[in-house]
Amino acid sequence: MKNRISRGIKRIKNLLGETGKNIAIITHVNPDGDAIGSCLALGRVLSSAGHKSGMIAPNVYPSFLKWMPGDDEIIVFNNAQKKGRQVIKEADIIFCIDFNDLSRVKLINELVDQSDAVKVLIDHHPTENYFGDVIFCDTDASSTAELIFEFIRIMGYRNNIDAETATCIFAGIMTDTGCFSYNSSNPRTYEIIASLLEYGFNKDQVYYNVYDNFSGDRMRLLGHILNDKMEIYEEFHTAALSLTRDEQRMYHFQPGDSEGFVNYPLSVKNIKFSAFFIEKEDHVKISFRSKGTFDVNRFARLHFNGGGHVNASGGESMTTLEAAMSKFRETLELYKKVLRNETS
Ligand code: 5GP
Ligand code: MN
Repeated sequence: MKNRISRGIKRIKNLLGETGKNIAIITHVNPDGDAIGSCLALGRVLSSAGHKSGMIAPNVYPSFLKWMPGDDEIIVFNNAQKKGRQVIKEADIIFCIDFNDLSRVKLINELVDQSDAVKVLIDHHPTENYFGDVIFCDTDASSTAELIFEFIRIMGYRNNIDAETATCIFAGIMTDTGCFSYNSSNPRTYEIIASLLEYGFNKDQVYYNVYDNFSGDRMRLLGHILNDKMEIYEEFHTAALSLTRDEQRMYHFQPGDSEGFVNYPLSVKNIKFSAFFIEKEDHVKISFRSKGTFDVNRFARLHFNGGGHVNASGGESMTTLEAAMSKFRETLELYKKVLRNETS
C-alpha cells in the first residue's frame, strides 16, 4: 500500500505564489497538540508570506495547549460562529488539518463541503477515501506537524519559519508521539527536529508547558481512577478505566484533565490494549490505545463508531457508561485469540 499521497502540489504552489489569498485553516473537533501546533505553524508561515489566514478549531481545547505562540488568534467555532462562518465563506483556500473525514469537524462540515474554495488536505490518518483538491497525506508520518514542516519547505517558505513556528511544529510532533515513545521510529522525524532546533526554540520548555501544567485536582483524579477504577482483564491482556459525571464534578473536572489517562494501563506488564471511557452529557467518549500489532483503529471503527491509528484511536457510544463497558467486555471475546497472542 502506498502510504504517501501527494496530489495537486503544483496547483497549490502556484496559488500561494500569488499573495493576498484568503485562507481558512481548520482542525478536527477536540483538537489535540498536533492539530493546534500544525494549524498555528501553517497560519504563521502563510501570514508572513503575505496571505490572510484565519485559523478555526470546531470546539474548545484544554489549557495545556493554550500556550502556543499565536493561540489567541484561533477562532473557536462553537463560541464565535459568525466570525468562523465569515472566514470560511471568504476563503480562496481551505486547509483541512489532521483529519480526513468531514464528519470530524461537526458543525463546520456543511460549510466546508459547500465552499468553492480550493481544499487542501494535510493529514496522517489512514483512510480509503481522501477528499480535497490538493492532498498531502502520509500515514507513515509521525504527526501532521511533521507533514506541515515538509509542506512549508515544498512551498518554498523555509525562510518564513521562525522560533515560534518551530515551537508549534515541535509541540505537534512531541504530543502525537507521546514524547517519542510510539510512532517515532523513522529517522526522518529526527532530521526534521534537528532542523527545527536550528531556529533556536526552547525544546524543554515545550515539554514543561504540555506535561507539567496540571492542577492538583487533576492529579488526585488520576490517583482515584488508577486506584479505584482500573479493571484488568488478564486473559485478554487488556485493561479499562472509566470516569462518571459524578466523579468529574467531585474533582472539579476541566477539559483536558483526562488527557493521557488511557496510556497508564499500558504500563502494566503484559497489558497490550487499554480503553478509557468518559461519561459526557449525552454520550460516552472512548479512547483506545494498544502496543504492538492489535489494531485499535479497526476496533474503534467496527464497534464504537470511531477511528484513528493502529495504536491510538477513539470512538463513542450513545448508551450509558455501564452499557458501553459491557459491550466492550463482550467484544473482547471476539478478539480472544489475537489478544492472547499479544505478548512481548
Ligand atoms: P484520543 O483518544 O486522544 O481522543 O484520540 C486518539 C486518536 O483517535 C486521534 O488520532 C483521533 O484523531 C482519533 N479519534 C478519536 N476519537 C475519534 C472518533 O470519534 N472518530 C474518529 N474517526 N477518530 C477518532
Ligand atoms: Mn495527528
